[in-house]
Amino acid sequence: MSAQRKVSGGLRIAAHKERSTKQAIRAASSSERYVIPLDQHSGLPALPLVKPSDRVRLGQPIAQPAPGISAWLHSPVSGEIIAIEPRSAPHRLGAPTLSVVIANDGRDERFDNAAAIVAFEQISPNEACEHIARGGIVGLGGAAFPTANKLESSLCENGPQLLLNGAECEPYISCDEMLMRERAEDIIFGARALLHALCAPNCTIAIEDDVPEAQASLQKALDKAGDSRIRIRVVPAVYPAGGERQLIATVFGLEVPHDGFPADIGVVCQNVGTAAAIARWIRDGQPLTSRIVTVTGDGVREAGNLETRIGTAFSSLIADCGGYTDRMSRLLMGGSMMGTSLPHDELPVVKATNCIIAASAFDLQPRGMEMPCIRCGNCSEVCPALLLPQQLHWFLQPFDGQQLSRHGLLDCIECGCCDYVCPSQIPLAERFREAKPLLIRELDAQRDADAARSRYYARNERLSRLEAEHRAKLAEKRKPKREP
Ligand code: SF4
Ligand code: SF4
Repeated sequence: MSAQRKVSGGLRIAAHKERSTKQAIRAASSSERYVIPLDQHSGLPALPLVKPSDRVRLGQPIAQPAPGISAWLHSPVSGEIIAIEPRSAPHRLGAPTLSVVIANDGRDERFDNAAAIVAFEQISPNEACEHIARGGIVGLGGAAFPTANKLESSLCENGPQLLLNGAECEPYISCDEMLMRERAEDIIFGARALLHALCAPNCTIAIEDDVPEAQASLQKALDKAGDSRIRIRVVPAVYPAGGERQLIATVFGLEVPHDGFPADIGVVCQNVGTAAAIARWIRDGQPLTSRIVTVTGDGVREAGNLETRIGTAFSSLIADCGGYTDRMSRLLMGGSMMGTSLPHDELPVVKATNCIIAASAFDLQPRGMEMPCIRCGNCSEVCPALLLPQQLHWFLQPFDGQQLSRHGLLDCIECGCCDYVCPSQIPLAERFREAKPLLIRELDAQRDADAARSRYYARNERLSRLEAEHRAKLAEKRKPKREP
């Protein structure tokens, strides 16, 4: 293991992971109902394969991917479909989203996925990608991008470099740390399956320097596997070291083009949780019907990490953790820097739910009154995307799309580092998050207008040419004919 070069910008902030990592991962209680949103992954919503009153088994496919970027969904229990209807979900708080509601019969009768268990090295890389898709595997680091789609779009001639992201940099979240401590063999198995599916020559597992137990456990599993293609790289625990672009820069010294993807520079990044989910599917025939969720914060009695079936209500996990304390003031999904505030806890765990924070005022201090920018420059010093947040903020009032685009608003990863250090309490990241869709719309409109303008000029040019040809023909006709 070796430490890598310094991350640009970023912050060393308290990790707040001690409480949730005291105990081993435990299983969440079973619930009476499970709610499975059909659009819980990036891309298009999955298409239901079941209807109300159908019986389903644990692990049975209940929705298939729509054409394009989409993912399979499987039942997390055995029981009966009681509705397919819009329900509130934590990843789309604006409006209810179409969901499959399943009544649990408590029997956990398994769907026969025996055919799913494969010796992955004996199938072709394309078949391996297809197989990973059928397990409903999506990125478990937060974006829930369908893994097979990402693998297919990353295939390149010499095989891309595979990077497994175990740099769980955001405060409070510890599900990956516990996974690496307790299920390191699954991660190594998943890494080998991914190497095969991508025809990749090697795999680097990145892990932060403040999780020695997880490092030791991974190293032990790697020694046992004896696969020299896989190596572990230790990176400094600086937030946001685990951001995809930041991690690629730290580990490989490569920069992802601002308007491109890691695949453009021959790198594929997957979360360690995704690798473990692939192992459980390929080796054990278990599709992605559960994940580890960190439940923590001063507002919950017993913090911990729970193996949780997708579709479990947050309220049930809170109850598993002893309920709220009287200091509880705010509920979030995700970490304290980039998490989303939730209006209530009757929301289902989705594949992207890595952490639930029941926060007190001690965890998340209420923001003070916003003051004018004093041009101190703190925000640009910590920006890991090397932006000038104070300038971006300036061009938001009034909205100047051209300058915002020129100053890289779309490169902002919404990490919140600038907010954290701003003495004027300006909610910079929130403003940037809100401004991005406006800028994208403006740029799209500008592109459409440019295209319309080019079409208009092309039409005028064509008409002038036709007219000139017409005149030339007329002139030719009117020329006096010579006497023979
Ligand atoms: S939120 Fe955006 S602008 Fe602010 S530090 Fe992070 S990347 Fe930079
Ligand atoms: S940290 Fe806040 S006050 Fe300082 S320059 Fe940035 S926006 Fe202005």
